[in-house]
Amino acid sequence: MRVGILGGGQLARMMALAGAPLGLRLSFVDPAPDACAGVAATPICAPYDDPAALDRLADGSDLVTFEFENVPAAVAARLADHATVYPPPRALAVGQDRLHEKRLFGELGIATAPYRNVESAGDLLRAAEEIGLPALLKTRTQGYDGKGQRMLHRPEELAGAWEGQGGVPCLLEGLVPFEREVSLVAVRGRDGEVRYYPLCENTHRGGILYRTLARPGDPLQEAAESYARRLLEALDYVGVIALELFVAGERLLANEFAPRVHNTGHWTIEGAVTSQFENHLRAICGLPLGDAAPRGHAAMLNLIGELPDTAAILAIPGAHLHLYGKAPRPGRKIGHISLQAEDAAVLQKNLNRAEALVPIFY
Ligand code: AMP
Repeated sequence: MRVGILGGGQLARMMALAGAPLGLRLSFVDPAPDACAGVAATPICAPYDDPAALDRLADGSDLVTFEFENVPAAVAARLADHATVYPPPRALAVGQDRLHEKRLFGELGIATAPYRNVESAGDLLRAAEEIGLPALLKTRTQGYDGKGQRMLHRPEELAGAWEGQGGVPCLLEGLVPFEREVSLVAVRGRDGEVRYYPLCENTHRGGILYRTLARPGDPLQEAAESYARRLLEALDYVGVIALELFVAGERLLANEFAPRVHNTGHWTIEGAVTSQFENHLRAICGLPLGDAAPRGHAAMLNLIGELPDTAAILAIPGAHLHLYGKAPRPGRKIGHISLQAEDAAVLQKNLNRAEALVPIFY
């Protein structure tokens, strides 16, 4: 089977590496001539919205999928005219606008932080009165890794804040005093079968994911699965999805979902029976899903901007290195380390050893 991917970054690369043993032939569209998926898939070097490139990708593929959610509706529609497209374009459309995403959560009974739509300076004043401060003003679209967000603490900060965000549609979101940030990676097949990976606990630095710890047996697993199931069914979803959540006291609040393989699922390459990348491909190809159970305890550390001493990392028991073949640049994800151990205390010890070797970034 031939699979086309829109995007040729590390997610496409890891998908392609997982697709080769399944006998899949992968190609991708990416404007960068050195896009890192080129190691395992055939590149079509062109802008993401180049009609001829999109037609070439779709005509040369039985299925098309995405490595990012900010796909313009016209691009998704053009691909869907020529090939079967998963996840469904509606999931992309909902996932790329925070308002639509939050509304869908609400319709499905999935709890979120309080929020208001803000399309003018006046809207912001009203929203702040209703929700209270501190609160986060987030652009509705194009926000990722904490970009497009502004924290508002005091009423004096409201003047000019909406204009400061570019005067684009925003959401004002109440600040959640969370104890933990967690995510649930799940996969749904074309026949509606769903598998869930264990809930993960995530730590960010400077708004970018730094560390993920798989938490098999987390008491909130069932509640998170129930949220994810509602979302997957409402979107008639096919493929891997990641649901990002806050844990505040007894409450589990959804922040956002990503309609794609996700950074908080990278540990599954060695840490689960079937990786998120393989399961995404199995799902979209209509193949039986693989077991999402963890193999012991697992963690992942992102490598951002700078490489550590790679030999020292590989000397840690249960550590594996994934370098994406990208030139180091501040703030750029250039690889990750995964760690596994049978025993949670051993994992923690090895994780501490790895963390001491990873250059700090903020
Ligand atoms: P986002 O771009 O929505 O994924 O947000 C990036 C990060 O900002 C999250 O991982 C949280 O650490 C933080 N954050 C976002 N929304 C909220 C919120 N409503 N309350 C507290 N922290 C938040």
